[in-house]
Amino acid sequence: MTERLYFQDAYRAAFTATVLANTAVAGRPALLLDRTCFYPAAGGQPHDTGHLAGAPVVEVIADGDNVLHVLAEPVDVAAGATVSGAIDWPRRYDHMQQHTGQHLLSQIFTRLFGYETVAVHIGAVDATLDLAADVSSEAVAAAEAEANQLAYTALPVKTYFVDDAAIATLPVRRPPKVSGLVRIVEIDGYDYSACGGTHLHTTAEAAPLKIVRQERRRGQTRITFKCGLRAWRDYVEKHATLTAIAGLFSTDFAATPGLVQRAQEQNRELQRQVAALEEQLVLVESLGLWNAAPQVAGRRLVVQHYPDRSVDALKTAAAQLRSHPQTVALLATTGGGKLTAIFARSDDVDLHMGNLLRDTLRAFGGAGGGRPEFAQGGGIDPEQAQALLDYARCVLEEEL
Ligand SMILES: [Zn+2]
Repeated sequence: MTERLYFQDAYRAAFTATVLANTAVAGRPALLLDRTCFYPAAGGQPHDTGHLAGAPVVEVIADGDNVLHVLAEPVDVAAGATVSGAIDWPRRYDHMQQHTGQHLLSQIFTRLFGYETVAVHIGAVDATLDLAADVSSEAVAAAEAEANQLAYTALPVKTYFVDDAAIATLPVRRPPKVSGLVRIVEIDGYDYSACGGTHLHTTAEAAPLKIVRQERRRGQTRITFKCGLRAWRDYVEKHATLTAIAGLFSTDFAATPGLVQRAQEQNRELQRQVAALEEQLVLVESLGLWNAAPQVAGRRLVVQHYPDRSVDALKTAAAQLRSHPQTVALLATTGGGKLTAIFARSDDVDLHMGNLLRDTLRAFGGAGGGRPEFAQGGGIDPEQAQALLDYARCVLEEEL
């Protein structure tokens, strides 16, 4: 049996103990001790890490009354030896802040709204509690405000063991999963929980408490929160981000949402203007291309690769060119790093552009096709644009 020193003093980070067994867990070296400060994973609170007998502790597992310390490497100690250990205190204190904060938040959601906490989890980044209800944003804001108010009154957190008879007299938030002697964690008459976890001296150490997200899932609501130093670090990060954004606009960060919205609207308007100008440019350019195009067997043959035109602009160019009599246009754009080819002809030319595009793309490992007078395709390496057009021109010149 391992005495759990954290039951009496959750703030104790270093200890000495007697080795009960130098053993293994699933092939990994592990020590069983007569007492420990290491908390094993349980109740949604992660296990501690740290050092024991000079080796890193990578996992702590509860096995009945025993606590097994899984080590990163074997240690040369026998049963009966005295070893010293120390937990990673910043990691443990972080867990204590999130865990105690969760007790407080769960009781507040119960008291204010009757919402029961059905699951909790503390991760390295996020801590969550699941409420058996659809929770409104207003309820979340009210609970968060109440939690911070209660934190600043520094309610003492007490722990003690009671038996089955005594527990029936306490307003325990959830019925305990164990019988016999049960450990009660009491936030000064405000919350009573059956819990074997590690807790703060007072609620003040959990402040500030910040709920950062709420998600509805299958009739429940998952609340993601940060307490204590985690919340402060989150504030530091967000403050720096907001200050950087405000700096870009040379304004106070309270004004940034409106400015970002205006910048988005201006961007959309500019995109519309660019598209309109590009269309006009394409029309002028197409006329020039048509005038300069060589005549092959009495037809104008326009072959053009645009490095950075939109597909819409390419379509406009094709439509403009095929409006001239006796005209064939072989066009490609590689705008956006993607090749799109359009082959088109005027209505008075008896050639099948869909078949020409299909056969040409096939020769380059692509696929596509279209109608006799207009075809569009792509899906091949943009570097091949000019080779593709040259290939189609050769085939066409033979047909003409
Ligand atoms: Zn607890």
